[in-house]
Amino acid sequence: MPEVREGRTCGECTACCYTHSVGPTKPDLFAPCSHCKPSPGAGCAIYGSHPIGCQKYRCMWLSMPGFPEEMRPDRFGVVMDVHADAELPLPLLILWQFIPGRLQSENGRSFVSKMTASENYIVMCLYGPSDIEFFFPSAVSEAERESNVTRICALFTGNTVKVA
Ligand code: SF4
Ligand code: SF4
Repeated sequence: MPEVREGRTCGECTACCYTHSVGPTKPDLFAPCSHCKPSPGAGCAIYGSHPIGCQKYRCMWLSMPGFPEEMRPDRFGVVMDVHADAELPLPLLILWQFIPGRLQSENGRSFVSKMTASENYIVMCLYGPSDIEFFFPSAVSEAERESNVTRICALFTGNTVKVA
């Protein structure tokens, strides 16, 4: 979903074209879009007339220049975005695993711990289409965790959920 923002560009990254759903042209999570050009990183075959959802989407790496270059999603192996919901006690940080195993690696676990310890986010790790794990800051009570997971999982019906 290549875009340009304040000098930062998607470059060869097409990670969200795999992890995300963008409506009828790409309904499934964690599946390559049929419009991705065959060679990895070559981009979108319908760029210019790609869906509005693709045109508007900006992952955290693209929209927040404070993230270093090595965290570009195709390099880091994880696409990050934030879902704000007035009924959740904190914003939901969603970590979409693009490269298998990245979120369970030492670097991945360290990043998840850091973001959880910041107490700024509920962290949701999406390892694949049917595997989700939640990490809650200590300030969120056990009772709240349960209701939050129920609420969030309504968006991901049928998936396996682990809560930490
Ligand atoms: S239509 Fe293009 S930009 Fe949108 S997901 Fe598919 S390949 Fe990516
Ligand atoms: S994951 Fe981010 S950097 Fe990569 S193509 Fe999508 S919006 Fe661009």
